[in-house]
Amino acid sequence: MTPQDEDFLRRAIELAVKARASGDAPFGSLLVGPDGDVLAEEHNTVTSDGDISAHPELKLARWAARELDPPTAAATTMYTSCQPCDMCRGGIERSGLGRVVYALSNEQLSTLKPGGGWPQVPQEGPALFDEARTPIEGFYH
Ligand SMILES: [Zn+2]
Repeated sequence: MTPQDEDFLRRAIELAVKARASGDAPFGSLLVGPDGDVLAEEHNTVTSDGDISAHPELKLARWAARELDPPTAAATTMYTSCQPCDMCRGGIERSGLGRVVYALSNEQLSTLKPGGGWPQVPQEGPALFDEARTPIEGFYH
């Protein structure tokens, strides 16, 4: 981690402060291009948007997938005030970003946040293979 990485992490922490000041959970993130330009910034808006997916990391991943070509996305770094949760990690991987740098780890966050985590939802399957494969067969060829 470079001093420049730490400067961008400080900006992510500022965005977390901004989120908290506006009544949302205190998390912020930014996306930086290969030349060190800040391409986009976000903070958590789960409460203000009424959207459980409004984590800054996922919002930036969606923005990158929509607005950047794959080589550009792969050359970006996401700086985030806390390690991305599982939901955001999936979005980041699908968006093809190049790198993530975080301040607090999820383990460190858990020492500051009572409770934490959500109950697992039972999943049942597989079932109806012949019927379920029909809309998929041939799609990826
Ligand atoms: Zn998340």
